[in-house]
Amino acid sequence: MVELRPVPFAVLITRMFQELERNGAIFDYPARRIVQAAPARDLSVSIHGHRASTPFGPAAGPHTQLAQNIVLAWLAGGRVMELKTVQIKDDLEIPRPCIDMQTIGFNVEWSQELSLKQSLEEYVKASMLIEMLKAEGLAPGFGDTVFDMSVGYDLAGIRSPKVRAFLDGMKDASEVVERLRGQIPAAFAHFRDLAFPTKLSDTLTLSTFHGCPPEEIESIGAFLLEEAGLHLVVKLNPTLLGRQDLNAILRDRLGYADLMVPDAAFAKDARWEQVVGIIERLGTLAERLGRGFGVKFSNTLLVRNHRHFFTGEKEMYLSGPPLHVLAISLVQKFRQTFGDRFPISFSAGIDAANFADAVALGLKPVSVCTDLLKVGGYGRAQRYFADLAARMEALGATDIDGFVLKAYGQAEPALASLGLPAEQMRKCRDALADGGDLAAAAGDAFSAWVGAARLKNTEIYAARVLADPRYRAAENSVPPKKIGSHLTLFDCLTCDKCIPLCPNDANFSLPIAPTRLPIEHLRRTDDGWTVETSGEVNLEKPRQIGTFADACNECGNCDVMCPEDGGPYLVKPLFFGSRQSWAEAPARDGFAFETRPEGLHMYGRFDGQTVTVVSGKGRVRYIGADFDLTLDPADPAGTTEGTANTPVDLTRLRLMELLRVAVTESGSVNYLSAGLNVA
Ligand code: SF4
Ligand code: SF4
Repeated sequence: MVELRPVPFAVLITRMFQELERNGAIFDYPARRIVQAAPARDLSVSIHGHRASTPFGPAAGPHTQLAQNIVLAWLAGGRVMELKTVQIKDDLEIPRPCIDMQTIGFNVEWSQELSLKQSLEEYVKASMLIEMLKAEGLAPGFGDTVFDMSVGYDLAGIRSPKVRAFLDGMKDASEVVERLRGQIPAAFAHFRDLAFPTKLSDTLTLSTFHGCPPEEIESIGAFLLEEAGLHLVVKLNPTLLGRQDLNAILRDRLGYADLMVPDAAFAKDARWEQVVGIIERLGTLAERLGRGFGVKFSNTLLVRNHRHFFTGEKEMYLSGPPLHVLAISLVQKFRQTFGDRFPISFSAGIDAANFADAVALGLKPVSVCTDLLKVGGYGRAQRYFADLAARMEALGATDIDGFVLKAYGQAEPALASLGLPAEQMRKCRDALADGGDLAAAAGDAFSAWVGAARLKNTEIYAARVLADPRYRAAENSVPPKKIGSHLTLFDCLTCDKCIPLCPNDANFSLPIAPTRLPIEHLRRTDDGWTVETSGEVNLEKPRQIGTFADACNECGNCDVMCPEDGGPYLVKPLFFGSRQSWAEAPARDGFAFETRPEGLHMYGRFDGQTVTVVSGKGRVRYIGADFDLTLDPADPAGTTEGTANTPVDLTRLRLMELLRVAVTESGSVNYLSAGLNVA
């Protein structure tokens, strides 16, 4: 297995701006698809008093693990970044693959795979990269981004000096910002004077274990509010619905008869009555301390592993369409208990067809993971915004509160429920009738009006999703289409699906024109050197696919979505970010580059055997376990010098040359070319 490694800051900056200039894209996200603000439409929401320019964001998970992921989410309109959960155990071994998107979405993911120190640095890098993009004039009008931390999983871990240092580092990131500022390459020196934010986050979503005792949840919440001084959201489990109600929805209503929630999950997780008490007390504490407090629906649902995707795992976590219905039922239940007293952040089965509805319920942020893992990746969010804009436009809503009031036609019933003085009611009704300023008409009753509409919208939408066939098993049981062929090192359907759907942008395009590589061996004879040809490798496609190993955590998602079998990340040419990361993954064939005074070194491993190619002027040095040769690849028989104890496989040399040129000389931009530029 290869190890996930952060891409150096200087490499990220170089790649980002070179790619934008040469290819009109950033981390393979086309600039033309960057989600832009519309002048007459205010999508902003307040997250614990911080303005976020849109209510959308990536959920804490694979899309917020690395700096480039957060940048990609930003390009797709994300302005509330739910950072991947960190915890005291920061050297986890996660089973691979860990994401199963064949149908509704399962995972065995957990928290950050990076160390706490690396995580902090990734989040700071992301924030600084976003500032640079803003300084370049990208996405004007969508300038405010909120970074929301997530920590787990128990009080002892969260109180530990390591996690405290992470929290303190996010609250005041000055030291990391200044260190990274010094790493901005000279070519981008104009960014060195930017006023990068140093107070990265003071909001946090608490993620507790499935089965975390209720008193532990409350103790952690109190600690985070009181001692850590943070605004807090407590993420809650779908098991709060109770066994009967949950199964009635999941199995009976939606038809997921094969999904079984273990009895222990209900027995161990906090019950509804307990959670109501916790929320009441933590909410009161937060009010006393002047901090924001809310809840999040929902955590994933723990189910028995009845499939064959995650081998060796007894249980797995469910997301996607059925979780949407369960989580909306929880929002309804919560609001029936607490009214509109606490803000609710929402992440469960959001996609283009329901994003605007979640916004209409006043949920904020509305964050997404599962849908962004499908073909199109981050770019899928464009349709969320298009749908929201179209619905707001049709209703004459110019901001989110106006949309909440009008989305389901509940402005009038909500108004009627407030019992306002007749004159104030009349003004509101007039404003509604003639498209006037609702906030001005309602005055200090506006927030109560919007709050009442949120509650009414929730009741309507909760009934609607229960009846909507799109969430049922029958609509979500067909896996992505496979065409029956197996991937090989070169050539494939060349559909490019694997590039944008990788959360880490680890797959990339290699500009290699159709060519024929001779299969050759070089042999020493009494008369010199001779080349024996035994066939050729035929590359027919207009380009090839490569995988950047340092950014690939072998989640398996590109394998599921690729129309061919085998998995691009396992079959396609694998490139490591450094000689060290290449050397530390001896089980994987692959390549690495290193700039040295003698010339560019390219290291290769084929079937476990390593070779090195050192590029020079017209000639290369080609080194293996039992040969060390210098030759001109255009004429090996006539130019070879050096020693070889056995016939030398020249095909490997030709293949490495092909890849070297594609990565470093083709004008294409990738992590490797940017890395060589920086070196
Ligand atoms: S390359 Fe494939 S396996 Fe690797 S992180 Fe990306 S989607 Fe996951
Ligand atoms: S590896 Fe698979 S997903 Fe990627 S371009 Fe080839 S066929 Fe498409």
